[in-house]
Amino acid sequence: MHDVIELRGAGDFDAILGCDPPTFSEADAARIATDTFGVRATTARSLGSERDQTFRLAAASGEGLAIMKISNLAEDPATLDMEALGVLHANGADPTIPLALPWMVPGADPVAPGEGADGDGSRSLAIYRASVDGPAGAYFVRMYDVLPGRGRSDPIDLSDAALAAWGAMAARLARALRGFIHPKAQRRMLWDVQHTPRTRALLGDIADPGQRGAVEDVLDRFDAVVTPLWPTLRAQVVHSDLTVDNALVDEEGRITGIVDFGDMSWSAMVVDIASVIDSLASGRDGDELFRVSRLVLDGYQRLTPLEPIELAIMGELIAARSAVTIAISSWRAGRGLEDPSFAERYNASAESIIRTILGTGWDETSRRLSSEPGRTPSGSTSSSEPGSSSPTTSDTELAARRARVLGPAIEPLSYEQPIQLASADGVWMTDTDGRRYLDAYNNVPCVGHGHPRVTEAVARQARLLNTNMRYLHGAAIELAERLVASCPVGLDTVLFVNSGSEANDLAWRMATTFTGNAGGLCTARAYHGISEASAALSPESWLGGRAPAHVETWAPPDTYRGTNPDPSVFAAALDRLRARGLAPAAAILDGVLTSDGFYDPPPDYVAELVRLTHEASGLWIADEVQGGHGRTGEALWSFERFGITPDFVTLGKPMGNGHPIAAVITRREIAERFAEDTVFFSTFGGNPVSAAAGLAVLDVLDDERVLPRVQAAGEALRGGIREIASRHTAIGDVRGVGLAIGVEIVRDHVTKEPDPAATTAIKEGMRDRGVLVGTTGVAGNILKVRPPLAFTTVEVPVFLDALEGAFSGR
Ligand code: PMP
Repeated sequence: MHDVIELRGAGDFDAILGCDPPTFSEADAARIATDTFGVRATTARSLGSERDQTFRLAAASGEGLAIMKISNLAEDPATLDMEALGVLHANGADPTIPLALPWMVPGADPVAPGEGADGDGSRSLAIYRASVDGPAGAYFVRMYDVLPGRGRSDPIDLSDAALAAWGAMAARLARALRGFIHPKAQRRMLWDVQHTPRTRALLGDIADPGQRGAVEDVLDRFDAVVTPLWPTLRAQVVHSDLTVDNALVDEEGRITGIVDFGDMSWSAMVVDIASVIDSLASGRDGDELFRVSRLVLDGYQRLTPLEPIELAIMGELIAARSAVTIAISSWRAGRGLEDPSFAERYNASAESIIRTILGTGWDETSRRLSSEPGRTPSGSTSSSEPGSSSPTTSDTELAARRARVLGPAIEPLSYEQPIQLASADGVWMTDTDGRRYLDAYNNVPCVGHGHPRVTEAVARQARLLNTNMRYLHGAAIELAERLVASCPVGLDTVLFVNSGSEANDLAWRMATTFTGNAGGLCTARAYHGISEASAALSPESWLGGRAPAHVETWAPPDTYRGTNPDPSVFAAALDRLRARGLAPAAAILDGVLTSDGFYDPPPDYVAELVRLTHEASGLWIADEVQGGHGRTGEALWSFERFGITPDFVTLGKPMGNGHPIAAVITRREIAERFAEDTVFFSTFGGNPVSAAAGLAVLDVLDDERVLPRVQAAGEALRGGIREIASRHTAIGDVRGVGLAIGVEIVRDHVTKEPDPAATTAIKEGMRDRGVLVGTTGVAGNILKVRPPLAFTTVEVPVFLDALEGAFSGR
């Protein structure tokens, strides 16, 4: 009955592709419009279509009255109903999307929602279609609003702004369709990229062997990389064919009307944007193709961020669209269903897109489209695509580039064989070769690498708004209030900056302003930052014996070597300042003494140092950049262990779990005195994104009850290391609090002579066994064990195994 040509090997699907469109004349069309929908048109102009007949009906004045579609005989009426329902659903969800809405047949009886369900659950919406008898049977007729704008724009004419607007429109449309479902949506429609593998059956119709080879390459890649991922992609009913053929545009090329839902199907959400890009990239080669694609993607992601895997396979999806175009139109042209010159033009542009992608290489295409270095779809291997560029630069090459462009001042890379990291999760980091490392070194990702609460908070806020503290915004204010609430009474004022160095620098400036003094005091091996003021308080970075004239140091008690905690050592440093005519503006202490070697001074001793400082009219800075945010497991701030109330609390590193944010908490009178002297404003300090990170970190510390977990993990870790020390005499001392742990490596137990060479060897040996630690201390002979606070007792045996292995060489 129907003029259907069987698709060789492609089974029963989409008979319409093999079926001639109807052949009503323009005069017939004008008559049909009147008979079915009562439209009295003077002219009916055929707009041409692959599968049905579309006419623009106009009055004598030329004014458009309606668009009429006469369907292909092979069309399933339930599929047409799905189309109508889909458009109406999208229109209900977002009436501002310019959709061509279907007309109701005059006199038809609207079916109330929920009623009139037919056997398979789809509502019969015959009210949106009439039918007309034609030469080969009854044809469905549908009528649509005329939308403004011009059709079939040449994508090459679209401005950059229009490209992004197309992306945004695709996202809006997909969002409006998100809740739509219909039994006919799960269809085998060859244009839907999910059915790409089925086009293999049409390959024989591609006459040009070169073109055929390129399409085959795309299909091979699709089978290898996309098909296995397909079940994991976000799926919904999508338009799937938002191309220049199906959209009307204004003078600037922005969409003013979306006219055809004929390819709507339930597929991966991402196929929509791939079809947009494939259409708009037509005529753009090389770098321009990627630039255009990125602009369209930016527009889309303004509304709907894509998942990494969706972005990673974008190149494959775009190429698949082009491959499908070539396969289908070659097949149709071969059967006289399509004008061969028309097909040739389309195919040439589709082939050019494929060639650009193949020439660039799949991995490089993925990188360029996702704008992320080295990203490749999981499941793909470089060997799956001969000749592709390597996804990541080799470690040696990158290290050489680092040295060349960053010069000698930056701290050297860790490890003899540097590690190039690709990703991290919790306490585990993964390098670009896929090797995993237990992170027992990095304190910045305090609640764990990539904690979803923090990353989502940052991403959400970054999309919404990022600005500065000249405008009112709640996030930083709430964060400041929570910080104040966490500190002893009197510490009531917060200033936000961006790094620990800045926090200490600012505290120092406030201290000098408030006290009128110029002297500084810090521990013998302290590190407090890179600014002029904070570097002056950082003997660890004074090379060549250089020491600033206004700073004196004191040695914290070395509990291992039996030095008593003696405040007179501190008093002597104060005396030395005084002898130089200097009173102290501030003394500063890292509460876990990271750089000195994780000593653990007793509370009375520290309290006495604070008293002596105050007595000498100086202020006390509690540097919580290392010890804060729960590292001790005892309290949020490490100074709390000493029972003191500092004049400044400086925060940094873990505060944003990797996002730069830092702060100074101080007393109001100090801030007031500072305000008389200067205006303080830090562009990024307290910005909404950083503040969102800061709040998320505090929330996670609470919700996950991190403090007791840190205590338990710290105790288990120290206990386990001490047990290893009973077999390896090179471990002289195991100390620290919470997850701030120092393991002192010595030549022998009696002399306690530091052994920095062995310390470095153990660090390297642990790395070889997949565990990362650092070294610290005056002699560099102390293993620095300072993991993310996501480190739990579960990881302790992994750590101990690597440590034992590094000692015994097994
Ligand atoms: N204070 C302490 C105790 C630190 O450990 C550091 C950094 N290691 C800083 C301040 C400086 O922080 P930043 O590197 O963020 O400037």
